[in-house]
Amino acid sequence: MDMKRVMKDYFLDLDQASKDPERKVAWCTSVGPAEILRAMGFEVFFPENHGAMLGATRVCMDTIPKANAMGYSPDICSYLTSDVGAYLKGITPLTKAYGIESVPRPDILVYNTNQCKDVMHWFEYFAHEFDAPVFGIHPPTHLPEVEESHIADVVKQFEELIRVLEKMQGRAMRREDLQRTCALSKQATDLWAEVLETAMARPSPLTFFDSTIYMGPIVVLRGTKVARDYYRVLLTDLKIRAAAKVAAVPGESKRIYWDGMPVWGRLRSMSELFKANHACVVASTYCNSWIFTDFDPADPLPSMAYAYLKIFINRNDQYKEDYIRKLVNEYSIDGVIFHDAKTCPNNSNSQYNLPSRLRKGGIPAVIINGDLCDLRCYSDEQSSTVIEAFVETL
Ligand code: SF4
Repeated sequence: MDMKRVMKDYFLDLDQASKDPERKVAWCTSVGPAEILRAMGFEVFFPENHGAMLGATRVCMDTIPKANAMGYSPDICSYLTSDVGAYLKGITPLTKAYGIESVPRPDILVYNTNQCKDVMHWFEYFAHEFDAPVFGIHPPTHLPEVEESHIADVVKQFEELIRVLEKMQGRAMRREDLQRTCALSKQATDLWAEVLETAMARPSPLTFFDSTIYMGPIVVLRGTKVARDYYRVLLTDLKIRAAAKVAAVPGESKRIYWDGMPVWGRLRSMSELFKANHACVVASTYCNSWIFTDFDPADPLPSMAYAYLKIFINRNDQYKEDYIRKLVNEYSIDGVIFHDAKTCPNNSNSQYNLPSRLRKGGIPAVIINGDLCDLRCYSDEQSSTVIEAFVETL
């Protein structure tokens, strides 16, 4: 199944939906309750995915200053500033990629602060611009453990969201719709986990840079058959490659863990840099963030509350340290690279001593400075020097 086709169909359908008075579009954060929205008949658009497109195409370098000029600090999330700036300039990478004039107009915006609070500022801005309702899920954050009381709190908020959606759609939520959507999401996310696990093979058949592309459907099409079917095909292909010892990095000699956001505007050059150094980035916190194996179609709301609370970004330092150590073992990793993304401290885990703690436990670790979108915060020379020197010492 062709990845480009899957994404193209998704965006064209969204575009159609936004022009059809019979259909409704919801904007949702990337680790928000997309399953509830889909079960209630909404088409779902993910502004973070649009931010990543703005970053990967480097269009953001024209749009971020526009948002900065109207009062959004250069220090806050550069997905937000890229996206707000694109809106102010009236442009989108969807035009060049798919001939789509603009992002779909939202009928409602739903965010979840399980990842950060920037999404609240971002969605509130667009709710105001489009004169659409906005609904925020505010779960307990930075948890050592997920407790029953945390789950009950989020389930209550999901139920409130469902009441709002029911009013908009003029009908009650059908439990079987939610169960079906949750089941499809679970199947896709389990397959996504298996896709990433093929990188345990030596040599690995895929790299982190491949996975940042392959992850499109698990972000934007969770809860659909398309996502599940796409990962079935991809997994089969990767298993064949792993069995045949087809290396994503020919001559793979070092295996790396990547923590933090990708540098979207430098995916290709970074991928080439690691290749040239025979180092394969085989696992990452980022791509693993869309593994929700705890979804349970028989008990959809509590299991979704649990899975969305449990995510890495919403946990304390000890959990994060243990998590990375576990993956270092499972993927036979030689060293960890922390990307300290200037505008996303939420997804940068190098600032509170984690690299030192890993080093004390015998795991080599290094930090590079950069950003997810804003290339003014990133230096090709500095990063290459640090990465090459690090790989050399492993
Ligand atoms: S987690 Fe980081 S990149 Fe994602 S929306 Fe929040 S601040 Fe932006």
